[in-house]
Parts: sequence; structure tokens; C-alpha cells
Amino acid sequence: MDTRRWIERFAELVAADADRLTRLDAAIGDGDHGANLNRGLKAAVEALGPDLPPGKVLMTAGRALVSKTGGASGPLYGGALRRAGKALGDAADVDAAALAAALRAALDAVQELGKAVEGDKTMVDALLPAVAAYETAAGDGPATAARAALNAAETGAEATVPLQARKGRASYLGPRSVGHLDPGAASTVLLFRALADAAAEE
Ligand code: ADP
Ligand code: MG
Repeated sequence: MDTRRWIERFAELVAADADRLTRLDAAIGDGDHGANLNRGLKAAVEALGPDLPPGKVLMTAGRALVSKTGGASGPLYGGALRRAGKALGDAADVDAAALAAALRAALDAVQELGKAVEGDKTMVDALLPAVAAYETAAGDGPATAARAALNAAETGAEATVPLQARKGRASYLGPRSVGHLDPGAASTVLLFRALADAAAEE
């Protein structure tokens, strides 16, 4: 698994979709999610030096995201990638089993930092089912597992629409947060679309 390609593809997809992410955040937040993540991911891609092992790529990208993204999502995505990179260690090759463990570590980091559980209408609603689906399909190889994770992330994100937000800025709206797609869940779908694209290229 080429983690550099994963992060580069995530940056491309967020750049292409930044306006939509920002519109989603304008509906139930402060309208900065697309811009935040786009800025953070540009910095993350720039921070990647040549010949980094896969785990170091994720740790470096995570560090850049924490310092450059801003908003609630910066520390969450950044913490997730740092923890995933740490789980990969110094290994030169990353198979589906190793990536499954790294994704689980990323989810744990997001939940430790943000204290959100499934159903709170956050990125966790896309991330948690995606990680579970990746783990289940890991035996079928990285491309199949990543596609399964993407499907689960999409379903999980869609399921945030009828929910009332219980964490983050959207929770200030109370019942008025109902009927909108959570922007962080939408960007998490892009994280897994990027993973599926990168895995399919190998
Ligand atoms: P901010 O809300 O500070 O403006 P962003 O707009 O960049 O930050 O990101 C908003 C997204 O962050 C939300 O849509 C949600 O998915 C995610 N989020 C916010 N708080 C939490 C939390 N405590 N746990 C998990 N995700 C969260
Ligand atoms: Mg925001």
C-alpha cells in the first residue's frame, strides 16, 4: 500500500470538493471545513520528503494537518494519521492486515480526542463502519478491502442526515442540525475514496 499516494489523492479529492464541504459546514457549522482541510492537506503533501517509509508518510502528514488545518477537524484527522503511522512503524511494505490495524488505531485516536460515538453525527459515523468493513475484508486484499470500506463510509455518512448533532459546532444548533449531511463524515468518505483509488492503482 502506497500511503503517499493515498494522502496525495486525498488532497486532490478535497481540493476538488472543497466548495461542497464548505457548503455542508455552512448549513450546520461555520462554513470552513472545505477550506480548512484543503489548506491542511496542501501543507501535508508539501511536508512529505522523498523516500519516507509508509508509516513516516502518515506521521508527517498528520503532523502537518494538526498544525495547519485549524478547526475541530484538524487535530482529529491529524491525530488519526499520526496514530496510524505509528502503528505501521518502520515497515517498508504495508499489507491489508497492517493497514487494518493502522485504521483501527486512527479510529481510536479520533474517539479518544473527540469523545464522539457512533450516532453523534460526526466523522466517526463514516470512519467507524469503514474501519470495521476494511478489517472484515482485509483477507481479500487491500483493493477489495478499501472498496468495502468506501461503501461503508458512504452509507455511514448518508446516515448522519436524519441525526441531531451531539458533538462539535453543529450540536449548538440542537434539533436544527437534523436534515443535513455532516461535513466531517463527507470528508471521511473522500479519505476512503482516496484509499480505494490508491489501492486500485497497485
Ligand atoms: P469546526 O467545527 O471547528 O469549524 P471543521 O468545520 O473543520 O471544524 O470540522 C467540522 C467537522 O468535525 C464536523 O462535521 C464533525 O464531523 C467533526 N467533528 C467535530 N467535533 C467532533 C468530535 N468531537 N468528534 C469527532 N468529529 C468531530
Ligand atoms: Mg467548521
